[in-house]
Amino acid sequence: MKVIDIIQNAEKTVFSFELLPPLKGQDPSKLHRTIEQLLEYDPKYINITTHRDEVEYREMPDGSIRKQIVRKRPGTVAIAANIQYKYGVPVVPHIVCGGFSKEETEYMLLDLNFLGIDNVLALRGDGVKTDHVFRPEPDGYAHANELIEQISNLRNGRYLDNELKNKAALDFCVGAAGYPEKHAESPNMETDLMYLKQKVDAGADYVVTQMFFDNQKYYEFVDQCRAIGINVPIIPGIKPLSVLNQVTVLPKIFNIDLPEAFSKELEKCKNNEAAKQVGTEWAVEQAKDLIKNNAPCLHLYTYGLGDNVQQIAKAVF
Ligand code: FAD
Repeated sequence: MKVIDIIQNAEKTVFSFELLPPLKGQDPSKLHRTIEQLLEYDPKYINITTHRDEVEYREMPDGSIRKQIVRKRPGTVAIAANIQYKYGVPVVPHIVCGGFSKEETEYMLLDLNFLGIDNVLALRGDGVKTDHVFRPEPDGYAHANELIEQISNLRNGRYLDNELKNKAALDFCVGAAGYPEKHAESPNMETDLMYLKQKVDAGADYVVTQMFFDNQKYYEFVDQCRAIGINVPIIPGIKPLSVLNQVTVLPKIFNIDLPEAFSKELEKCKNNEAAKQVGTEWAVEQAKDLIKNNAPCLHLYTYGLGDNVQQIAKAVF
């Protein structure tokens, strides 16, 4: 079932959660445990992130340094299919521009279609960690709007190869990312919103936001979107803060603020356990307020941890 239909047919706020594929070599059963912890609260769909190749410099036995390309979290397509069929919950694999050519993306979309997966979240992705800027692949995309355009073309049976004889349409529901506090690279909010509109005009059916800790930022963002003609559902992203050092790490990585009342509570925490409790309680209050204000769906970021997300789901669903 498509996310847009789930949201539009829902009589009240529903929820979804986002999972990271396990690290290469990690026991995959942890992922299943996280899902099983959350299933009883009736998530309507599950997002699976995608991670590009990373560059590592490894010391060789002779003392030389060798550059190595590694994909630390493989398997989005396989994991997505496994979850959809094992648990009967629709999945939304993420598709990123970074590290992929247009051709590879088309094959990934064909695989997803063949597997009966009809939702994707289309993103640019970040640059490789050793680079300061995002560099597109020579035959890839610089921005998510171009990727969304490719998916929209496939929805109309337009493949990369114009000569192709058989042109079955691949009917995906597409989500795009939005930033209530502006994307870190954007010069200002207006420009960021203009590019978000471009993604919606290219075919995005809905928007999922970056995490935020002040709901007012989300409500203002929705108003700003509506004012420039972005009329698709805007799904708020909620991340329960779970480790003390995220007080400084999250604002830096995601270009977001922590409200003063929240950071003051966190300052009193002596350890990660205490911070996790405060972070979960804050997220529960955010969730309750968003539901009261008729958010279409809550997108819960798990970052591989299920127990705090389970507490939120238990408190509000
Ligand atoms: P874009 O829409 O391309 O925007 C990137 C920047 O370029 C913005 O500053 C924007 O204003 C600007 N811009 C946009 N279009 C244009 C244009 N046409 N010309 C010039 N400038 C433009 N990353 C992963 O690697 N894997 C994931 O699975 C993943 N999941 C995510 C899930 C959610 C819900 C969110 C919110 C983010 C996720 N990310 C993920 C992170 C995301 O890839 C980064 O935030 C990335 O830096 C931007 O992605 P985007 O799709 O918003 O890019």
